[in-house]
Amino acid sequence: MAIPTSDTLQRRGLMFILSSPSGAGKTTIARRLLAEDGAIRMSVSVTTRPPRGDEADGSDYHFVSQAQFDAMVEGGHFMEWATVFGYSYGTPKAEIRAGLKEGDDFLFDIDWQGTQQLYQRAETDVVRVFLLPPSLDELRRRLTSRGTDSAAVIADRMARAQAEISHWDGYDYVVVNDDIDECFAKVTQILAAERMNRARQTGLIAFVRELTRG
Ligand code: 5GP
Repeated sequence: MAIPTSDTLQRRGLMFILSSPSGAGKTTIARRLLAEDGAIRMSVSVTTRPPRGDEADGSDYHFVSQAQFDAMVEGGHFMEWATVFGYSYGTPKAEIRAGLKEGDDFLFDIDWQGTQQLYQRAETDVVRVFLLPPSLDELRRRLTSRGTDSAAVIADRMARAQAEISHWDGYDYVVVNDDIDECFAKVTQILAAERMNRARQTGLIAFVRELTRG
């Protein structure tokens, strides 16, 4: 039998929430984490927003009508839900509940409202990480795509980003994304440390009992 280490001991899964204003690199960090860490998977949200570009139903989001969304709210199918920029978004609970018990970790790309609700419902399972851009100038640069957007569109994006930034204090960890590789390294360190949190390591009691056997 393989000797258990703190990485292989039985443990409860965690809910790893990554929030940021757009322009702080959240999508890049999330994609990389999913690609490089085999033990975490995405929590796929339900939304009433229409698909954009090549977004696929079932992997990027579950795309539904407002009536379908409302029925899911009524039926108590969401762990949290919120209205963001005029559309409804929610986290379906069934898969996550079962997964956490099995030791699966989930990555959440949700806003501050959803983060607050998940924390209220499942505080001990939740790890909240917020990414910040390194400066106002850099944020503006990242939100200005190829000089084709009007000043009004850019001003609107900046206002939304700054509104999201104002919720930074509802998170456990805040990482400034100055360099994407460094930021990614810091995010993976947070995840590694949280996996070793004593309360999550449900296999510890039996393991330590064996270590201290007379
Ligand atoms: P987008 O429409 O650009 O994919 O997402 C818009 C915003 O909604 C982002 O801030 C994203 O984090 C947030 N969001 C996506 N899914 C959920 C969800 O299930 N719950 C909540 N509360 N926010 C979500």
